[in-house]
Amino acid sequence: MKNIYDVIVIGSGAAGMMAAIVAVKENKKVLLIEQQSKLGPKLKATGGGKCNLTNTLDNDTFMRSFGKNGKFMSDALNKFDYKNLIEFFKQIGVETHIPDGFRVFPTTHNSLTIIDALKKELERLEVEIKTDTKVLDLLLKYEEIDGVKTENENIVSSNVIIATGGLGYSKLGALGDGYKFAKSLGHTVTKLYAAMLPLISEEKWVASCKADTIAKAELKVDLPKHKKLKANGDLIFTSNGIRGPVVLDFSREITPLLEKYGKIPILMNMVKGLNEEQIFNHIKNESSKNPQSTVLENLASLLPQSVIKELCGLANTDFTKRFKDLEGQIREKLVKIVTNTPLTIIDHVGFEKAMITRGGISLKEINPKTMQSKIIKGLYFCGEVMDLDGPCGGYNLQWAFSSGYIAGKLNN
Ligand SMILES: Cc1cc2nc3c(=O)[nH]c(=O)nc-3n(C[C@H](O)[C@H](O)[C@H](O)COP(=O)(O)OP(=O)(O)OC[C@H]3O[C@@H](n4cnc5c(N)ncnc54)[C@H](O)[C@@H]3O)c2cc1C
Repeated sequence: MKNIYDVIVIGSGAAGMMAAIVAVKENKKVLLIEQQSKLGPKLKATGGGKCNLTNTLDNDTFMRSFGKNGKFMSDALNKFDYKNLIEFFKQIGVETHIPDGFRVFPTTHNSLTIIDALKKELERLEVEIKTDTKVLDLLLKYEEIDGVKTENENIVSSNVIIATGGLGYSKLGALGDGYKFAKSLGHTVTKLYAAMLPLISEEKWVASCKADTIAKAELKVDLPKHKKLKANGDLIFTSNGIRGPVVLDFSREITPLLEKYGKIPILMNMVKGLNEEQIFNHIKNESSKNPQSTVLENLASLLPQSVIKELCGLANTDFTKRFKDLEGQIREKLVKIVTNTPLTIIDHVGFEKAMITRGGISLKEINPKTMQSKIIKGLYFCGEVMDLDGPCGGYNLQWAFSSGYIAGKLNN
């Protein structure tokens, strides 16, 4: 019969395309609906266009990286982990490699390779696809799923998989419809936070360091109850704060705290983890090599000039002076500031630039073995729309693919 499906998948991201492929292999009549004109709009932007598909962590370590909700992924990862993902892509013609021994990319380093391969596989399996079609609502019959309502028609289906993603980067499709659908059927959506995004600081001095990059910086929260929150990686200054790989991971923890505390004091070590004594010795060694050298010159091998000047400003230090000519107190202060630079985070740049969303459809109401709703028969979830978010490094795509794989099985 026309227009009647076994399953409708809403959203053609990593999760939705995988779910549709798996469902059709289960001999289901599948319709994949995407509101944008092309499949996988967000997938295209991943990894700066290179698509960091997954990583090589064992399942336990992988789950731990998602925090307390991570365990929910256990069944899905046991059935479809990074090795299965690599094999899946190999079978559909995509070779992958692991240049740093950890992160997995297509060898082409081009996310279009991934989208094209998934698209070809959907076509080969004759999955029906409707692009430029927005789902407006879900249809119910006797408290069970009965299809979806789009702008043009009602489409009947006994199962619907919500794969609508999070709220980040709305220009790539993220408008939060999945949360709305789930809520309307009695599901709980936890508080949603923008995550993996640049942070804004109270201190204005950062502007003078704009675009300066610090390799291997360490950031930590300086609040008594949250001292354990730390992140390591490359840091980049912006005109009003900080960004870069270390900030992406760190911001996942910061945005919920910002709501609670208003501002978050942090400490940054931008000198490769050297402590006060080591920095003191470094400066002394440098000045003994060249007795006329200034503080600016003594720190030049560790930090960009503009950053040194700003840190000296914070420590009331004249950077044109020789270290040994500074007062004892000033030296101590400088060494302290260089090893533990204080910064106050007061805001973030908003969902528009958030790579992922923290929070989502409550996991308590989803069966981890099937991704099926515990509330409505025939309703399934996969990908970022659920209350799970991982750090930077292929975690979130792996989860989208693993959960899409399980949801596509439709309880089989
Ligand atoms: C710039 C950027 C870079 C990233 N890089 C990486 C990376 O390298 N590695 C990694 O692991 N993660 C990365 N992420 C995170 C990762 O992309 C996401 O977690 C993942 O793509 C989520 O997949 P998804 O299928 O759940 O949702 P999405 O990919 O967001 O797909 C959801 C789809 O649903 C569609 N949709 C929504 N509502 C409707 C509706 N009502 N009707 C019809 N269609 C609808 C949307 O248009 C969209 O195409 C990155 C994110 C961004 C923004």
